[in-house]
Amino acid sequence: MKKVLVGAGKINFPEEFADGLRDLAEVVYESPREESYFDELKDASAIIAGMETVNDDFLDKAPNLGIVARFGVGYDSVDVEACTKRGIHVTHTPGVLSGAVADLTWGLILSQMRGILESDGHVREGWAGRTRRLPLGYDTEGKTLGIVGMGRIGVEVAKRAQGFDVDVVYYDVYRREDLEESMGVQYMGLDELLKASDIVTIHVLLVPSTRHLIGAREFELMKEDAIIVNTSRGPVIDQAALVEALKKGQIGGAALDVFEEEPLPAGDELAKLGNTVLTSHIGSATVETRRKMAEVDAVNVRAFLEGKTPPNLVPEQRK
Ligand code: NAD
Repeated sequence: MKKVLVGAGKINFPEEFADGLRDLAEVVYESPREESYFDELKDASAIIAGMETVNDDFLDKAPNLGIVARFGVGYDSVDVEACTKRGIHVTHTPGVLSGAVADLTWGLILSQMRGILESDGHVREGWAGRTRRLPLGYDTEGKTLGIVGMGRIGVEVAKRAQGFDVDVVYYDVYRREDLEESMGVQYMGLDELLKASDIVTIHVLLVPSTRHLIGAREFELMKEDAIIVNTSRGPVIDQAALVEALKKGQIGGAALDVFEEEPLPAGDELAKLGNTVLTSHIGSATVETRRKMAEVDAVNVRAFLEGKTPPNLVPEQRK
């Protein structure tokens, strides 16, 4: 019998989804942090992968593998070329998590603009009498929101923007004239967007061309009180340059769900700065969305086990 190895954990891929595959395969859960994971990997036909790095080294330990089902839409942790050369399918979970990531993006924008965390701390510390005044926040109304990467998640952020009365501008390698018409969003080059925006939010995928897309030069272009939000992948922003820009007051603040190194190392400079809001890569972490992601992975693995083409192959493997 074939074996499916789940590295994404039971919280993400609950037993009921494993049960749904057990007529076709044995399903085993192991943490990729444990040596036992690699014992199971030796004869696994399929893996449901969290953030484990799937490269040639990893694949050498998986001689029977036929499918890597990523638990997520981003697949920068998987070397697709190496998988393709070995005839291994790579699938992901596009679309089902876009709303959850867009909601978090707006949560981060509002936390940053209204000082929600600072005020929460203020209340918990005893409200410090009535004399201590927190700095005033900012309205969203009339501000310009710059979306970098108008893909599935970028579009959901733009949809939600309509309720906040912001003007939406966007930059993408593909111009979306359909959206310009239907949503009233305006296309701009990246530099122009950075100069015009009060809020810059990043939604590109991580590929060589987007690594450090935003660095020292780009922070110089931004408005002094602008905020940057990143719920895509940490390395899209040059984090050292971001820390410098925040320290120098070149930009107003940053709200980040993703980091160049995860978990963010204890004592990192970003955590010492007051003008940052930091979350622990929770973009898709809701009950409903994680369930939908598990369903997509189960469908893809089942198709593979039945000898069919999995429906959610990554773009590089689509014919
Ligand atoms: P998508 O492929 O639909 O959108 C990405 C967009 O980026 C596309 O429109 C593409 O044309 C554009 N793009 C590519 N290269 C570019 C460049 N150099 N400059 C400007 N635009 C460029 O992907 P999506 O479903 O919207 O997801 C986006 C990313 O969000 C994922 O790849 C993933 O890394 C990240 N993500 C993070 C979380 C989280 O938990 N924080 C959850 C889900 C996804």
